[in-house]
Amino acid sequence: RIAYVNGRYVAHADAAVHIEDRGYQLGDGIYEVCEIAHGQVVDMTRHLDRLERSLRELSMRAPMSRKALSVVLREVINRNRVRDGMVYLQVTRGVAPRDHAFPSDSVQPALVVTAKRMDRAAGSRRADTGVKVITVPDNRWDRVDIKTTGLLPNVMAKQKAKEAGAYEAWFVDAKGEVTEGASTNAWIVTKDGMLVTRAAEHGILRGVTRTTVLDVAKQLGLKVEERGFSVEEAKAAREAFLTSATSLVTPIVAIDGTTVANGHPGSVALSLRQAFFDVAEKTPA
Ligand code: PLP
Repeated sequence: RIAYVNGRYVAHADAAVHIEDRGYQLGDGIYEVCEIAHGQVVDMTRHLDRLERSLRELSMRAPMSRKALSVVLREVINRNRVRDGMVYLQVTRGVAPRDHAFPSDSVQPALVVTAKRMDRAAGSRRADTGVKVITVPDNRWDRVDIKTTGLLPNVMAKQKAKEAGAYEAWFVDAKGEVTEGASTNAWIVTKDGMLVTRAAEHGILRGVTRTTVLDVAKQLGLKVEERGFSVEEAKAAREAFLTSATSLVTPIVAIDGTTVANGHPGSVALSLRQAFFDVAEKTPA
């Protein structure tokens, strides 16, 4: 495997950053994960838009132009011969003697890009059976709209899910409403067929998959409401599912041990998953 690290393509096994990289020391970095389907980056424009927004919100310089970045992504994908999988890109504020405040302007942001193959069959099997989620209090900071590498609450939540035999942990805010998963957005379908997901302005990351699924849902003529929902509403819903660039649309069949509907993946989730394949994965980025 090959990785891109600060201007060089190197063997993945030897790829390294300096011990004073601010991402390593301070979590002073941002990232993107994009799906690769049929050799193409899915929703590349939306991912690069979000990357630029994250940079802007943290007053971080871009490591290179958008065009150059897309060339590096392409190169890493090609060198690893990935047809189906994911590409990871991370920008940190660079290498400088440890100090919380920003380093001088001469410090170059650091860029790392990796790509790996993923088994589409494993995703399909998960979609066929559905997954379980648990809930945990949302103890994150109030800028979760920025995709930063500072992911400790997400790490702790995901580990708790794993130990409980669940696929994902849903964060729950002080009002008892689900915000999002540790690495996914959260959705339900109500008893009267309304597709519900929390508004992106309130305490969640605006998932690229979320945005695309909203588009697809509207194309399918589904009724959509962007609002919060409680854990109780989700447990009583007709369907629940999650979205992300690597999980795509994955049905949820249990929440904190309570079976959702009849315990099988819902038809809306499955048709959105299929529509995502038909639309997003076939549109050149
Ligand atoms: N929410 C959080 C906290 C995430 O980390 C992610 C992705 O990693 C998502 C939502 C889903 O975003 P996307 O669809 O862009 O992968």
